[in-house]
Amino acid sequence: MQDVPIVIIGGGLSGLYAAFLLEQKGIAYRLLEARDTLGGRIAVAKSSGMIDAEPVVFDKKAADNDHSNKISDNAESNNVFDLGPSWFWPDYQPQLSSLIESLNLLCFAQVEEGDMMVERAADQPPVRMQGYKSAPPSMRLVGGMAALIEALYARLDARCIMTNQKVRQLTKSDGHIEVQSEDSSRYMTTLRAQHVLLALPPRLVEGRITFQPALPQNLSTQWRETATWMAPHAKYVAVYESPFWRDNGLSGAARSAIGPLTEIHDASTLEGNGALFGFFGAPAQVRESVSDDVLKEHCRAQLARLFGIQASTPIAEYLKDWAQDPLTAMPADISGDGQHAVAPPSKPKIGEWQDCLTGCGSEWSAQFSGYIAGAIDAATMAVQSLPVKVLRQ
Ligand SMILES: Cc1cc2nc3c(=O)[nH]c(=O)nc-3n(C[C@H](O)[C@H](O)[C@H](O)COP(=O)(O)OP(=O)(O)OC[C@H]3O[C@@H](n4cnc5c(N)ncnc54)[C@H](O)[C@@H]3O)c2cc1C
Repeated sequence: MQDVPIVIIGGGLSGLYAAFLLEQKGIAYRLLEARDTLGGRIAVAKSSGMIDAEPVVFDKKAADNDHSNKISDNAESNNVFDLGPSWFWPDYQPQLSSLIESLNLLCFAQVEEGDMMVERAADQPPVRMQGYKSAPPSMRLVGGMAALIEALYARLDARCIMTNQKVRQLTKSDGHIEVQSEDSSRYMTTLRAQHVLLALPPRLVEGRITFQPALPQNLSTQWRETATWMAPHAKYVAVYESPFWRDNGLSGAARSAIGPLTEIHDASTLEGNGALFGFFGAPAQVRESVSDDVLKEHCRAQLARLFGIQASTPIAEYLKDWAQDPLTAMPADISGDGQHAVAPPSKPKIGEWQDCLTGCGSEWSAQFSGYIAGAIDAATMAVQSLPVKVLRQ
């Protein structure tokens, strides 16, 4: 059994940023990520210009074999589309903004120039209205949000990061924590740690990881009741040769009471393809009962109603339903109200687990619970609050 001062569970933004902070402090750790890929809710599709091309997420193995894949080069980053988060707000998220700057990532403002389209009822044609601009502006990253994951990973020791390791159980024994994880062949690995950083949503921790002994009842309930931000949602992206709607004075934004997409935005890259993305209005249970092909067909028809016949023939399209991803959503998220959670306590204050577990996923951020900025904030707080005995290892 391998001994390590800290185990980080989860290789989304919060886990990778916690790893980055630990490496800066010279503290040894292992990060265990259940998926084959890193980034968690930060996922992108890279368009090859082929219809129905598969979404591509950040691939750790490819990056390890080919260093050039670690930091997105401009040619590739031109055709990257966000399936998870798209926006951040530097004006009120200064810590995230300085990180992005220090990693030399390029950003640009969400395109909002032009009119928007509105669909009010099935028996009325869509109407064109004056668009509005967000203030402060929503910013996007060149290369999609995955550029942030790639840039962080490029600065980490790849030997400390293990993908395809689903953590199943934490056992407190003899002053240590045994962290048991399972790979896709059901092979179990056990690490022994002084402290565990939980870099995943609180609800997943409570629902999918067994604690031996059990967590304090109160804490368990609070973690279970913390909704995972955006877990009930699904995104559709349609890619075109160019943002043709702009020639007609449209911003690419739309609102619809008919659906299947309720809120649509321009998702074009800075200098590459045009693209539109939308959030589905239909609840997760309804989406699950319809095939992806049928959902995409309805999305294309809606985009054609709103932006003209050209919108019915994208060169690529992608659909990511987060509610059907068990490494993001629990059944309670699917039927939840989709509100931002109030951050629950990040540490057990009593019992066996006191001083050896800290929540560091985005939902634990008091300031930006559920946001990307929350992942950075929660990871910072978690590393800052590590017990002195662990820091001295
Ligand atoms: C559709 C969508 C749109 C969004 N839009 C925005 C936006 O525009 N702006 C914004 O600020 N935020 C947005 N968000 C939220 C943002 O994506 C999250 O706040 C952020 O990515 C959370 O990072 P995290 O590391 O805390 O959690 P996650 O990204 O959820 O990472 C948790 C990781 O833990 C892993 N894991 C789960 N279970 C286990 C296990 N048992 N063992 C090991 N690993 C495990 C998962 O695979 C995952 O990689 C959006 C999210 C979605 C889904």
